[in-house]
Amino acid sequence: MAVPKRKTTPSKRGMRRSHDSLPIESYQECPNCGELKRPHNLCGSCGHYNGREIVSVEG
Ligand SMILES: [Zn+2]
Repeated sequence: MAVPKRKTTPSKRGMRRSHDSLPIESYQECPNCGELKRPHNLCGSCGHYNGREIVSVEG
């Protein structure tokens, strides 16, 4: 069985994990209702996209 020759140092482990954090999610204000939404995505609160209603929100 292949076994690593040396223990990974805390420094090397940290360098490897430096890319593991999740990216900061970007948000834009919905032009219809002003709620924050993901760009290029349907607004979750009013169902609008690109200036028109795609999904009617009940309630
Ligand atoms: Zn909206």
